[in-house]
Amino acid sequence: MQKHEKKLKKVQYDYENRQYIIINKCPHCNLEIHPTTENTYSFENNSIKLSVISLTCPSCKNDYFILNDDRIEAAANEKYLFSVPKYSFNESTLIKNTSNKFQNLYNQSTNCELLGYYDIAFFGYIKSLEILLKDIAILEHRDSEDIILFCNVIACLEQFHSTNIHLFSKKLLEVLKNDYLHYQKTSDFFNYSVLVKDCIDYFLLYLELLLKTLSLNENRKASEQ
Ligand SMILES: [Zn+2]
Repeated sequence: MQKHEKKLKKVQYDYENRQYIIINKCPHCNLEIHPTTENTYSFENNSIKLSVISLTCPSCKNDYFILNDDRIEAAANEKYLFSVPKYSFNESTLIKNTSNKFQNLYNQSTNCELLGYYDIAFFGYIKSLEILLKDIAILEHRDSEDIILFCNVIACLEQFHSTNIHLFSKKLLEVLKNDYLHYQKTSDFFNYSVLVKDCIDYFLLYLELLLKTLSLNENRKASEQ
């Protein structure tokens, strides 16, 4: 059976009374870690101020750097720049049993977010959630595959996820079905981006449970025959 892996995210890291934004996974071994600090550095010219923190993975013992944008005007969500070596999200980091279509789009969305392309990432996450919802609906309603593939995400939720639709607030449904430009400039943008990612996490767990239940049922049927 698959194991559920925590999603890649940026986390706050405090060291010597300074705050850094790092990623929660090691770029070498991809494990979720709490790294130790080897050293910190600062670089500055007239327009750019950088802080570099050298970290060590307690698991694989490899070192890496994380670069932060230290300008005052850099918003909290723009502070993280990149890691050296570069962390890149790939298929092996995703939980199993999701479709290639989902994995491909979800990977791209995560890499976009890491690079700071938040608008494109937002689009990608919404579409990834739609693919995941449809993959699950097809597993549960195999006879309706054609209808599921060609319906829109709201119709898919209403018809095939009636036990889960209470998770989707009216506002979230609007985010999913509306033109994204409608939300681009509002202060809610990041809240909804996080909510869409949380929904993906929820449905990944739901898929895991569903697959376990289906395989238990199949085993029981086989033993009864
Ligand atoms: Zn490591």
